[in-house]
Amino acid sequence: MSLRNGEFHALLDDASGAPADYVRDVAWTKRALERWMVDRKFRDRFAEDAETALKEIGAPLVPEQLYPLLGDGGEASGNEREVPVSVLRYQEFVNEKLSYRRALRAHGQETSDQRMAAWRRRQLKRCVGELGASRSEAIVHAPAAFELSKGCTVGCWFCGVAAPKFDHNLPYTEDNAELWRTTLGTMKSVVGESLSDAFLYWATDPLDNPDYEHYLTDFHRILGRCPQTTTAIGHKDVERTRRLLELARDLGSKVDRFSIIGTSLLHQLHDAFTAEELLRVECIPQNKEAAKLYRKSNAGRARKFAHKRGDELVPEASSSTIACVSGFLFNMVERSVQLITPCNASDRWPLGYWVLDKGTFDTGAELGELVEAMIARSMRTRLRLGDPVRLRSDVQVTLEEGLLVASSLGQRMTLAQKDLEDVAECLTEGMASAEDFAIRRERRTGTPLPETLAWLNMLFDEGLLDEEPEPAESGRTPVALGMPGRAAS
Ligand code: SF4
Repeated sequence: MSLRNGEFHALLDDASGAPADYVRDVAWTKRALERWMVDRKFRDRFAEDAETALKEIGAPLVPEQLYPLLGDGGEASGNEREVPVSVLRYQEFVNEKLSYRRALRAHGQETSDQRMAAWRRRQLKRCVGELGASRSEAIVHAPAAFELSKGCTVGCWFCGVAAPKFDHNLPYTEDNAELWRTTLGTMKSVVGESLSDAFLYWATDPLDNPDYEHYLTDFHRILGRCPQTTTAIGHKDVERTRRLLELARDLGSKVDRFSIIGTSLLHQLHDAFTAEELLRVECIPQNKEAAKLYRKSNAGRARKFAHKRGDELVPEASSSTIACVSGFLFNMVERSVQLITPCNASDRWPLGYWVLDKGTFDTGAELGELVEAMIARSMRTRLRLGDPVRLRSDVQVTLEEGLLVASSLGQRMTLAQKDLEDVAECLTEGMASAEDFAIRRERRTGTPLPETLAWLNMLFDEGLLDEEPEPAESGRTPVALGMPGRAAS
């Protein structure tokens, strides 16, 4: 059941056109659900006496307005027409946020550099296969992220990117501001308009930098969009946070986020801001009491605590990563940039992303050259004849009713209908280059060489072939994948 035409109001852009009771319904439903997710005492109180529990937090709601969203009232009523209108309004709000995320993901598909666009399309497909459809759908694959500090003051035990201890910030001096704007301009010429999907933190908390708002404003001026802010310290200086939320809203930010790492932190934020003020600010439950309802990724620093706090993490058998960039990760303090893309966190890639290349720069010109070299080295658009052809290590090959089938967590594809064992051996052992493979197949089955090369390129485009770089920890430089050679087709 949904709202009829004319009853729905979009709230993420400009909620000023929506009736006050509409905004209040959604804002307070959101707030009560946040309390329920984060606060065990509230959950207990709600189970015992829901009406009083809602009154105690000042919610202008009755329990029937929450039951359907907690998974019990909808069925209990047995009649869709009895679902309160506030529930439908809230569900439309959730749908609006999901549409926004899908649009964000689609927006980033195209980049000005066609090599980067092809590489990103391939990594998106690989991620579906490696991480599974639902996990990968949650990844926006931003083309870049910019850290404005070195390290993070918060030190969460579960930090999925293992942020180091805070060291220092990039102050917004004249020189640094100049380099910042040059960096954005240079990257805009490479990435294009979708650079506006980038954000200004990674293994950092944006509010650690007292000049964050200046960098944010420059970003908006150059790229026309306000990047999303996610912070775990929004409660520390409430007036600053309020000004930042107002600034972000004025610059068009649709969604910002508070990371809730303790129950009392949510209480502080709920006390400091009205439900309406936090309408477009997601409160992400990261506290212990919410653990079973909202599991954390088994990535980064959390992996070290898996033996003690495993029940708070997603199970080992499921995919885990919090990385959401397929592109360039900057640290503006170090003036460094890495080319990264998400992967399932493992002992080999504990941070949940591959690092394919990295370098440092001091000027816009140096950055331009560095990024061009990274793209040329690491973003092949086609297989080269000398490239080894091997399926990704997470892809299983099976014989099913006379067909050779490749499958992984999120992908399934028929590979071949003839010469099955040979194809299976070559693709799983990685014993041949693309050229060797095609010649061998031509000899054995008469398949014309160009046909095999085109087929291998199709597998490559689907992200099925292994492109995993050597991890930086191994001491080997993570540079070009494959070997130089002629184009395969
Ligand atoms: S999760 Fe965020 S706030 Fe916590 S340590 Fe990592 S970067 Fe800092």
